[in-house]
Amino acid sequence: MYNAVLIKGDGTGPEVVESAVRVIEATGVKIKWHEEEAGEVALKKYGTPLPESCLEAIKNYKVALKGPITTPVGSGFRSVNVALRKELELYAGVRPVAYLPLKDAKYENVDLVVVRENTEGMYSGVEHFVDKERTAAESIRIITRKATKRIVEFAFKYAQNKNRRKVTVVHKANILKATCGLFLEIAKEVATSFPEIEFEDRIIDNMAMQLVKKPQEYDIIVTSNLFGDILSDLCAGLVGGLGVASGANIGDDCAVFEPVHGSAPKYAGQNKVNPTATILSGAMLLDHLGENEASKKIIEAVKKVIKEGVQVTYDLGGQATTSQMTEALIRIIENENI
Ligand code: NAD
Repeated sequence: MYNAVLIKGDGTGPEVVESAVRVIEATGVKIKWHEEEAGEVALKKYGTPLPESCLEAIKNYKVALKGPITTPVGSGFRSVNVALRKELELYAGVRPVAYLPLKDAKYENVDLVVVRENTEGMYSGVEHFVDKERTAAESIRIITRKATKRIVEFAFKYAQNKNRRKVTVVHKANILKATCGLFLEIAKEVATSFPEIEFEDRIIDNMAMQLVKKPQEYDIIVTSNLFGDILSDLCAGLVGGLGVASGANIGDDCAVFEPVHGSAPKYAGQNKVNPTATILSGAMLLDHLGENEASKKIIEAVKKVIKEGVQVTYDLGGQATTSQMTEALIRIIENENI
């Protein structure tokens, strides 16, 4: 029996998290879920969107499955997601992007992973208006040697563990000579310790174009916070969109698994959105716990349901509800030899 924290999140979060829990249960792996609140619910109840008890629970149990959390734009509380990553030092944002047999799949053979630095860069939170009249505002992009070395080493070790062949570092060192220059310099240094893994670099704008034209050529992409945020959504679009994009935030001590998508509040309570992204994040959690067979089972069931194209939600061209798609997956996991 494993222990893990469960954060249902806001908007459509509770629906997709419930689906993921049911699908994980269907694999036979036993997890005791410790539910904690964060986001709008916690703000109303405890006056803070990220209660200390939630952080403590994750520190204690080391792994968590989390639904998306709404972040007010412009004002209100700072992002819980950013705070969680910083507080728990979840420095690596890991977002796998692999081909799914959708009817209108644009690319086959895509199988890459975006590794994003999660704790600094453009999201360091050092931002202010220069005067009371708000005539201008500025953000400071912080890149440190320590965090860069840590994320690039993570990418190479991940490549080693998963038998991957190549790491591509993405930057804008031609213009941002100090911050991206440092990121690239350190990446090149780290690469020398992993001679068996191919290493290359790409400038961010070129990378965006290359990913749309020939994503099959890329394997592990490692980059700074903002570039990683944008590229992971771009990559999600290559293989079926946000409804199927899974992710994890990993540190040396803890790991939080969550879909890439947000809380899609306009669909909350409608049993409508695609649970796949959260279910695949659950598969990543199982893999992290060492339950590789159960994890693979979930991925195969997802591929099967998507290939059949019937019990799929609206964003994948079907009419199934969240719970109908979940039940189709459970039936396959429980009854078929996949
Ligand atoms: P969103 O991902 O919630 O929704 C954008 C659109 O994508 C939706 O309108 C919907 O059409 C589609 N979509 C998203 N999830 C889907 C799913 N599971 N199935 C089918 N379609 C889906 O992004 P947003 O509207 O920019 O953000 C809403 C809120 O979520 C904001 O407050 C934002 O800050 C927050 N957010 C949270 C996280 C997180 O918790 N990690 C991530 C991103 C955004």
